[in-house]
Amino acid sequence: MSGLVKISPLSQENYYTQELSKHYQSVSQFKNFMECEARTMAELSGEFTRESTTAMLIGSYVDAWFEGTLEAFKAEHPEIFLKNGGLKADFVQAETIIQRISADANFMQYMSGEKQVIFTGTIENVPFKGKLDSYHAGRCIVDLKVMRDFEPVWKHGRKQHFIEAWGYDIQGAVYQELVYQKTGEKLPFIICAVTKEKVPDLEIMEIPQERLDECLALVIEKAPDFQKIKTGEVMPERCGKCDFCKATKKLSGVIDYRKLMPDLYKSMNQNQNPDQNQPVSVAEIVDIPEIPEFSEIPEKKHKKHKKHKKSKKRRKIVIKI
Ligand SMILES: [Zn+2]
Repeated sequence: MSGLVKISPLSQENYYTQELSKHYQSVSQFKNFMECEARTMAELSGEFTRESTTAMLIGSYVDAWFEGTLEAFKAEHPEIFLKNGGLKADFVQAETIIQRISADANFMQYMSGEKQVIFTGTIENVPFKGKLDSYHAGRCIVDLKVMRDFEPVWKHGRKQHFIEAWGYDIQGAVYQELVYQKTGEKLPFIICAVTKEKVPDLEIMEIPQERLDECLALVIEKAPDFQKIKTGEVMPERCGKCDFCKATKKLSGVIDYRKLMPDLYKSMNQNQNPDQNQPVSVAEIVDIPEIPEFSEIPEKKHKKHKKHKKSKKRRKIVIKI
């Protein structure tokens, strides 16, 4: 890949730089492409950035503690402190989370591997990079997740396990593959998860090999397509739903309102046992003639309408202040 371009070797310092993100795919970039190709490309070019939220910062705070870089993290994020120098409530909660996981010997053991180990490799000729939270060479790959709770997540119109909804299974598949390519060992992928709830819950979960295999198959199928978008061979598609797509949307005219939610009408047409408690729509999506541009809509010219228009013109509107 990129035979003529010299790529700097990956390090902790340059891991997240634009140069390397343009060269390598990562799990988060792959997941971003799955969500919206256009937004991912805009992020790669620096045209669009997503703000980091307090919720994300809490996770980073706990990550930094595990890495032993909490002091540097605090120095980089003065916004986590109150004026009196104390931590804001959200980060007091991060301290509670740290205390809770510190008290669990099993959790701590899984998290005690080598920290932030970088692996690179290629999947279907696409260069990939990965940074492992806790790597136990020859034993297992562990990733830390600090999450809202352990409830299912509503995504793409259905309830999903949070592991699948957030693509932690895809992450496991890629990390396992990168480690395998370097070491010849296929290691279990473990998630050490803790919640941000007032009383944090915690769990150590393994993603079974069959799920990792399915997810690797998905990466093998999709990553080359995303790479073609990155190299400019293929135009990125817009999801139409994300903040980037909303912010850059250009209206081309009038649409049949049902086309805003075609799935609703698709299921009606397929007559899939409609809910008895819902009003039954007789509407079906039919191909209505293209709606003309606003300027092309003919003005109705019957008498009554004209008269009404005239009287409207004569009326003076006074706005009282
Ligand atoms: Zn989008």
